[in-house]
Parts: sequence; structure tokens; C-alpha cells
Amino acid sequence: MSKKKAFPDINSLVRKNILTMKPYSSARDEFKGEADIYLDANENPYPSPYNRYPDPLQRRVKEELAAVREVRPEQIFLGNGSDEAIDLIIRAFCEPNQDSILITEPTYGMYSVCAEVNAVNVQQVLLTPDFDLDLDAFPKTFDATTKVIFLCSPNNPTGNLLSRDKILEVLKRFYGLVVIDEAYIDFAKGKSFLQELDKYPNLVVLQTFSKAWGLAGLRLGMCFASEAIINVLNKIKYPYNVNIRTQELALDAIENRHVMEDAVKQIVQQRTRVIKALEKLRITEKVFPTDSNFVLVRVQDAPATYKYLLDQKIIVRDRSRVVLCYNCLRITIGTAGENDRLINALEEL
Ligand SMILES: *Cc1c(COP(=O)(O)O)cnc(C)c1O
Repeated sequence: MSKKKAFPDINSLVRKNILTMKPYSSARDEFKGEADIYLDANENPYPSPYNRYPDPLQRRVKEELAAVREVRPEQIFLGNGSDEAIDLIIRAFCEPNQDSILITEPTYGMYSVCAEVNAVNVQQVLLTPDFDLDLDAFPKTFDATTKVIFLCSPNNPTGNLLSRDKILEVLKRFYGLVVIDEAYIDFAKGKSFLQELDKYPNLVVLQTFSKAWGLAGLRLGMCFASEAIINVLNKIKYPYNVNIRTQELALDAIENRHVMEDAVKQIVQQRTRVIKALEKLRITEKVFPTDSNFVLVRVQDAPATYKYLLDQKIIVRDRSRVVLCYNCLRITIGTAGENDRLINALEEL
């Protein structure tokens, strides 16, 4: 990572079989215009809202999203959750039984799960005790097999943003893809990396409709990158990976994005209040700084506190067996009423 070179053509990083394969061409790929009669896709002709296949490339959603996020539509891939993008990136760029991804522990579990499913090696670098990138540890860990680095910022389960300077350092020096997972960016004070896309051909930014947008049940994830990277993902995705209803509801959500922005404001306010309450508890050892809609808290005995809350029918996430997270609980910020109950329960402990 120490030598800086011109970044190679993206296609030189793509697996050979994927570069040379011929993609499936659906009826809606071959004819994209408007017509009176569609007899090309073996659909049932009797009208219902869903008798037709969806737009395979979700053009309307991408146009709206591009305007809101200030990118070009060609820089967007939409998937069945951001989990689909994570899987496709690994499958497109990592040769099974040969290549590796690099993750910074503790972090979101899907990167290593997707790698393992695809027989791709997982290299791990520990975050510092305050959960930031430890750049000195990177050169010892990655090697010529490392194709993708996953950085989660704000990080799950720790909640904090990684230092922008350190992320930029990785982007400038690493020779493969750098994926920044911004699932929680709407709750953060820091800036997204979306505006860096034109500067770094190896940058991939993931966002999702599952958290701030309040649409986890729809399964819609966003992946932003150079057109070259987006084209590779489009080539190997399932043809109709985002259904019609999801595309319609996403358009509604983007059009009415004040709903999301209002929810974020409420959650951020509630977060301040929950943090203050947690800090006062007898059992609290440390409340970690958060830029997300959850907070990581170290208590005297996390499994016991988890069990106590469970008995009160309040479920939090026990992360005490996760590296660097001993005796830590991860608590999502709820509604004011839900947070009342959580805080009351903990104060009575
Ligand atoms: C919740 C979460 C996601 C969202 O995944 P979807 O498949 O879009 O629901 C992605 N990354 C991280 C770090 C998350 O915590």
C-alpha cells in the first residue's frame, strides 16, 4: 500500500470469466421504448398492477436518486438490499480459492459471510481501541490477493465514523476496490464520500433504504461507483432484481423525503437523550460516541443486562462476544415512548 501508482483499468480487476461471459438479455433489455402491444415477454396479458416485468435497470428511481444525491444515474446500482451489492462485488472481483477481501474488525457481518459463501479468503485488521482505522496494521495484512477493502462508516456495531483522512489514505494507496458502507450516513455529522466518486475510480459507496428511509421491509440497497464498476454489477445481477412495488414505493419515498429527514431529526434528538440517560446509570462503564441510530454501551455485565431487559420484553443486541466489544450492548434508538421504557427499566436495575 506504500507505493502510489496510477490506478489500473477496472476491467483488469474483474474475474476473467465474468469479463468474457455474455450476459442474459431479457425482453425488457432488448426493447426499452413505448409500444401499444407487448407480446415479447410471455406475460399474462390481463391487466393487474403486476402482470408486467419491472424495468430491469430501475431508470426512474435512479434518475430521482441521482438528482437527490448529486451523482449521475450511470453511477448507481440498485439491489435487493445493499447485501446484494456486497455479494455481487465479491463475486465479480474475487476469484474463489485465490483472492481475498480485507475487513476491519469489529464490523458488519455480511462482508465475511458473502466472502465465505464464495470461497473468498477474509483478511482482518483490528480497529484501534477507540474503533478507528489502524493504518500501520494494513501493510502487514493485505497482499497481492487482496482485491476489495470493506470500510463501514459509521461502523456497525460501534456506531462511529472512521476518520476521513485515513479513509482517503486507503483510497489513494490501495490498488483494488475500496467499499465504504454508509448505511448510517444520514444520522452522521460527517460528510458522505459520494462527492469523491469522480476522483477515485476504485471507490464504491453503499447506502440503503433500510435505516433512515424506514423501508427495511422493501429490501432496496444503493451502490454508487464509477460507470465501469456499475456495468460489471449490472452484467451479473438477476435480470429483474428489484420488483415493481419496491420501485414505486422508493419513488414515493424520494419524492417525500422530508418524511425521512423528519424521522432522522427525531432519532438524533432521542439519541442525545438516551446517551445522557445511559451515562448516568450505575452499571454503565462507557458509552461510545455514535454517528448512527444506535449506541454501543459497555456495562458491568452485558449478558445479565441483556437478560434483564429481555424479561421486560425489551430486546437489544448483546455484542459482548465481539472482538473489542467485551460487555457491550448495541441499543437502537426507538420512539420517545420506547426509549422511556428502556430508560425506566435500566434505572430500576
Ligand atoms: C443494516 C446495514 C446494512 C443494510 O443492509 P440492507 O441489505 O440494505 O438492508 C448494510 N450495511 C450495514 C453496515 C448495516 O448495518
